[in-house]
Amino acid sequence: MKKTEKPQNPETRLVTSGRDPENNHGFVNPPVYHASTVLYPTLEAIRKREQDYTYGRTGTPTTESLQDAIASIEGGHGTRLTSSGLGAITVAYFAFVEAGDHILVADTVYRPNRVFCDRMLRALGVETTYYDPLIGAGIAEMMRPNTKVVFAETPGSQTFEMLDLPAVAQAAHDRGAVVIVDNTWASPLFCNPFAQGADVSIQAGTKYIVGHSDAMLGAVSANEEHFSALKRAWETLGQCAGPDDAYLGQRGIRTLDVRLRRHMENGIALAEWLEQRPEVERVLHPALPSHPGHEIWQRNFTGASGLFSAVLNPVSEQALAAMLDDLELFGMGYSWGGYESLVVPFDPVSYRTATHWPSEGPALRFHAGLENIEDLKADLEAGFERMNALR
Ligand SMILES: *Cc1c(COP(=O)(O)O)cnc(C)c1O
Repeated sequence: MKKTEKPQNPETRLVTSGRDPENNHGFVNPPVYHASTVLYPTLEAIRKREQDYTYGRTGTPTTESLQDAIASIEGGHGTRLTSSGLGAITVAYFAFVEAGDHILVADTVYRPNRVFCDRMLRALGVETTYYDPLIGAGIAEMMRPNTKVVFAETPGSQTFEMLDLPAVAQAAHDRGAVVIVDNTWASPLFCNPFAQGADVSIQAGTKYIVGHSDAMLGAVSANEEHFSALKRAWETLGQCAGPDDAYLGQRGIRTLDVRLRRHMENGIALAEWLEQRPEVERVLHPALPSHPGHEIWQRNFTGASGLFSAVLNPVSEQALAAMLDDLELFGMGYSWGGYESLVVPFDPVSYRTATHWPSEGPALRFHAGLENIEDLKADLEAGFERMNALR
């Protein structure tokens, strides 16, 4: 096979990027390097530390393979792997803030992100203000002279508000702040945050990159201007991914396109079906025309993942339990992005501060897996029947 320099479409890059058969005896995939020490051949070599690999924690051909693939597909200059998605978030903050700084964080970010700001960053002298994700260019008025970071996540965790990233990023850059985006929902394939003004992008690789619910992994990428600061923080914090988990990530990313398209198709079909159900108050899925952020989704994304929410009309806890406890295909549990369908209840009122949640009924977040869509609908339909029997 000849190495090509021609530009490739993202689906092709999922297959070709980060692979190096020539240096691996022709084998298609990179080997799993279980490694700490790297030997240097001479005194001169160890003094200069100029070889490709210097220590297990700072990289092996296994981790490099996945880093190169993510950077190539998401559009960043470089990527570093972390032990989890949350680990990637904390590295990104530490790279760009110090005591005395102020940061702006979307009210709808992944909840443990807030916990990190409220506990760790606060204790270290960094002040966080949460902003409404629908603020758009209005974020300019919240910027202070010491605002160093604007953190965005779109759509919002659990509630799926669409944030206008180009508008927010423009206002942040006008005042010299670094824009960090958690791009986990869309995966590197369905959104390129760098093309919309992000400086740093985060992936919880645990979700669609691994894709099989069997590893914890994170990735943090930056544009050229911000990559060296990011890399320095990553090294200083001692973050690294285990070799087997990095391998599962590079294996998972090869099939990301086919998996995501099925997750998207099942997710949209389920969301449309739920929208017609009398038990449902509203469905929160950016790919539905009824979603208030639908236009932003159409403009900034090339697809949707299988994750969305629905708010039910008020029911008793007992009736809700009758529905959820006996589902046969939707497991109840945290995380998502594996091949299987999931559902979890959530209550944003308990921890958000800058937005108002208008619903009284229970909210459920769904992950549409790769099962047959009619089987999924039948499972939920039987659940609604159990619920209605106890109304
Ligand atoms: C799951 C998730 C994370 C955290 O990833 P872990 O690997 O579980 O630490 C971060 N951001 C978003 C949006 C997530 O859904």
